[in-house]
Amino acid sequence: MAHRDHTRLHQVEAVEWSARNPADFAMNRRLARIETGSSVRRPSLLPPRAIPPPVTKPQHLIDVNVMPRRKAQAMSNGELTRRRFLTSVGVSGGAGALFATMGALGHAPTPTATPDFQAPQRADFHLTGRGTRKVVILGGGIAGLTAAYELGKAGYDCTILEARDVTGGRNLTIRGGRVETDLDGHTQRAGFSSGTYLNAGPARIAQWMVTLDYCRELGVPIEPFVNANADTLIYNEAGGSPVRFRTAKADLYGYVSELLAKATDQGALDSVLTDEDKARLLSFLEDFGDIGSEHEYVGSTRRGFASYPGAGEDHGTPLPGPPSLSDVFASQVGRYISFEFGYDQAMMMFQPVGGMDRIAAALTTKVGRQRVRLGAQVLKVNGRASDVTVIYRQGGREHSITADFCIATLPPNLMARIPHNLGPDITSALTAFFPFAAGKIGLEYRSRWWENDLRIYGGSTQTDLDIGQIWYPSHDFHAPRGLLVGYYNFADAAEAYGALPPAERTARAVAQGVKIHGDRYRTELASAFSVAWHRTPHLEAAWNYAPWEDSTAFRLLLKPAGRVYFAGDWLSQAVAWQHGALLSARAVVTALHQRVLTS
Ligand SMILES: Cc1cc2nc3c(=O)[nH]c(=O)nc-3n(C[C@H](O)[C@H](O)[C@H](O)COP(=O)(O)OP(=O)(O)OC[C@H]3O[C@@H](n4cnc5c(N)ncnc54)[C@H](O)[C@@H]3O)c2cc1C
Repeated sequence: MAHRDHTRLHQVEAVEWSARNPADFAMNRRLARIETGSSVRRPSLLPPRAIPPPVTKPQHLIDVNVMPRRKAQAMSNGELTRRRFLTSVGVSGGAGALFATMGALGHAPTPTATPDFQAPQRADFHLTGRGTRKVVILGGGIAGLTAAYELGKAGYDCTILEARDVTGGRNLTIRGGRVETDLDGHTQRAGFSSGTYLNAGPARIAQWMVTLDYCRELGVPIEPFVNANADTLIYNEAGGSPVRFRTAKADLYGYVSELLAKATDQGALDSVLTDEDKARLLSFLEDFGDIGSEHEYVGSTRRGFASYPGAGEDHGTPLPGPPSLSDVFASQVGRYISFEFGYDQAMMMFQPVGGMDRIAAALTTKVGRQRVRLGAQVLKVNGRASDVTVIYRQGGREHSITADFCIATLPPNLMARIPHNLGPDITSALTAFFPFAAGKIGLEYRSRWWENDLRIYGGSTQTDLDIGQIWYPSHDFHAPRGLLVGYYNFADAAEAYGALPPAERTARAVAQGVKIHGDRYRTELASAFSVAWHRTPHLEAAWNYAPWEDSTAFRLLLKPAGRVYFAGDWLSQAVAWQHGALLSARAVVTALHQRVLTS
């Protein structure tokens, strides 16, 4: 096998290329597709519906460069030139608006034209001479906590009613001693050793997400989360042994480049490419696929080594291979390659040091524990012209609380079941959302064999097994022990695992992992803890999708029903991301505050 050295240039090009890819479907749909190895699958909790179109881009983010040609021509013909347009924006909106608009037009390095969030402030009330109001917030997840935090800054009197015994909602980190009982009566007590934890819900944060801004503001330290690692594995059961990502990528990029180069050489693209285009394309492919000037993929150092190059004249021992083009495509390793191209999954990604629940804990502290009623399950919501009364159960007794406004951040599948007088349209809008199942298991090991023996430091192994994937920890490298996520699965697979008693989930997950990592996957295991989100009390889903074939329900719930507002990641374009919950909360407190100031 011949090997060719590669330059770093191709890596930069590949990254830039992926960054130029258009935004993909929401994370969950892509994950579901990757995990199930098929086209998008609907959760089986509800009857099947049509496959969703990509999430519609909010109007203010629509790229002016893709506007209809007629309109673009009109502008360039002088009806409204860019310069005139920007000048008028600058005059009416000031420098910030001008800069943001220039960004939208591709003239300035601003990410979006969205104005900065202005949190409600006490000064606003001083300006208008109005007093603050009382707000009852249903649910102490990220959206509820953020709403209370932001309103609290302006002096609103907020009370959070949270049914669980801890704030955070799906922002849940399992540590040793934590006890959870699911809807089927399975009780688990986490046996993790001190310092070991499972981020059972959110685990990663992309660089552009507002979640990081809150980490900064709240003083929650962050560290890198390894979301892509060339040394993790791909395992497809039919293919037998696992293959490292770097090897799979080298072979795929190599063969695809070879095919495209050959097609170009043979004139198959002559109708779409000029001679200059062809020369540039070939030059790119030679480097991208490491196929050399002969345009043939014969392997590459990019595949990795059985023994890496060493001292003196030790050139290392290349991995055997590559397999034939046909074998590489037949192995289906390609289905996992594009995951890291996603705008929401690309490195760098981050996690809070010490567990994702550090965010919820910091928000709770800022809000004030005295404002949070834990174990308080909302039973009924009654809106009136002048206020809102909420009935809830806490400590075995019913209580009521009356406030000027209510912000309901319960998942829509649960909010739909709460009796209220907000009208039947609200109930049908809430029931139009559909819940999605996901599950995770944390497996604590007595040694970090994946680092010591396999040289895997973070990242995930992707499989076509029902475990979906195995995650390696991104923190505490070289510590004596560590925790793997032994499955993170969705839809049918999550429901199948969730239906089992926890010990059987562990046994099934470990049996699958043994196929990839051998017996140590069983023998080194110290303890396990699993969460089936769709069977978790007060959540009953990993996340909820909006009805995409008709946005009426979604739009209705973006507006208040009288004095009741709705918030949560389900009312955002970032479902299944805390980013969505945070932005939704911000949108609601902004609307509520404006209403108070103008009423
Ligand atoms: C498996 C999984 C993986 C995820 N991965 C990521 C990730 O990597 N990164 C990321 O940023 N996000 C991730 N997310 C998404 C993230 O967890 C959510 O977007 C976010 O936590 C939603 O916050 P929320 O406040 O909108 O909703 P929730 O967290 O659902 O809060 C709703 C709250 O209402 C409470 N409640 C329900 N019923 C009642 C009642 N009757 N009375 C009182 N209270 C009630 C609940 O207990 C809960 O606390 C993941 C989620 C899951 C499940």
